[in-house]
Amino acid sequence: MQTISNEIKLDFDDVLIEPQRSTLTSRSEINLERTFYFYHSPRIWNGIPIMCANMSFCSFEMAKSLAKHKMIACLHKYHSVEDLYNYFVQYPENIDYTFVSIGYKKSDLNHLLELKNKLGKQPNICIDVPNGHMDVFVKYCKKVRENFPESIIVAGNVTNTSSTQELLIYGGVDLVKTGIGGGSACSTRFVTGCGFPQLSACLENSYVAHGLQNGPKKLGLIVSDGGHKTVGDVCKALCAGSDFVMLGGYFAGSESCDGEWQYEYLANNDSFWQPLDPGYETQKRKTKFTYYGMSTHHAQELYESNIKNYRASEGTKITVPYKGSVDDIVQELLGGIRSCCCYIGADSLKHMSRCAKFCRVNNIHKNNNPVLGV
Ligand code: 5GP
Repeated sequence: MQTISNEIKLDFDDVLIEPQRSTLTSRSEINLERTFYFYHSPRIWNGIPIMCANMSFCSFEMAKSLAKHKMIACLHKYHSVEDLYNYFVQYPENIDYTFVSIGYKKSDLNHLLELKNKLGKQPNICIDVPNGHMDVFVKYCKKVRENFPESIIVAGNVTNTSSTQELLIYGGVDLVKTGIGGGSACSTRFVTGCGFPQLSACLENSYVAHGLQNGPKKLGLIVSDGGHKTVGDVCKALCAGSDFVMLGGYFAGSESCDGEWQYEYLANNDSFWQPLDPGYETQKRKTKFTYYGMSTHHAQELYESNIKNYRASEGTKITVPYKGSVDDIVQELLGGIRSCCCYIGADSLKHMSRCAKFCRVNNIHKNNNPVLGV
């Protein structure tokens, strides 16, 4: 029997956060750092709960740039053990903020075990599969946990609350990655018809995760992943109870990205930049960056020898303008979050979900303001 839920599920664009009375006098008073205890890991983490997604552009440079801001980079899963080892030896202080990603393959776990043995430390881990709603995935996460009792483990993706509970209780996961189909380079909703609106996913999954406790302060936690197009969307995810927010496209095009860049060139004695390299350029600068969904055949071809013909590509290619340094992006991000806190009277990022009230809106709020011409 087919069933249909008549309860409307909401996306970020379906709501606004209602401004509230505030006693704050300055944005500088707002504390954006959080301290987390985890359901399984004995580690205590302090920082700004924003992560760069484990997409192909999440490089060591990105990890270094974000660690400076106490933010997390989930390195893409194709870095070699040797390169990971060298990075962690060179930047031991970044270990809290640099997560090593794996997929769901025996060789992925072996890769991680090799790193652990070489390094003598257990790195924090991001386990990423397109559909985490699978019994075998819960068992796989449990196996990773058995081998890495100290690591902070992020795993997903799921949207359904029973899967969140299962991954936390039985899968040994600390942070459940929530969101299917919303990513900027994701075509799952078109290719398969599957997905779940992200704001409701955050509200529902954070509620069940926070209801699970495994000792003093050791709550289940979630990461909102996919579909945050603006700082406003990041604020909505945090207000909807998400503990961390994972961003892919938002960081794509920043200086620290690894991948396909386009440049423009300044030739000798010329004062204008041109798109084609004249062969005698004196300077070049980045103009555009192209990234690919991690499940696209292109991304797989880059790193894997055997493309699986039975799998459809659930990703797309996106080209974005050069966005400047990661520092610039972070400044814009944190400025927006601070302002949101001011509008709702929250003196810290931690209190956003307690202070926020959403109102449902029609699409008029998205219309360009004709005066500003935005
Ligand atoms: P964004 O912040 O760009 O909107 O979303 C990032 C998220 O999109 C990633 O963390 C990941 O969960 C998801 N994603 C990345 N590549 C693909 C892909 O090829 N297919 C699908 N379905 N999701 C992807």
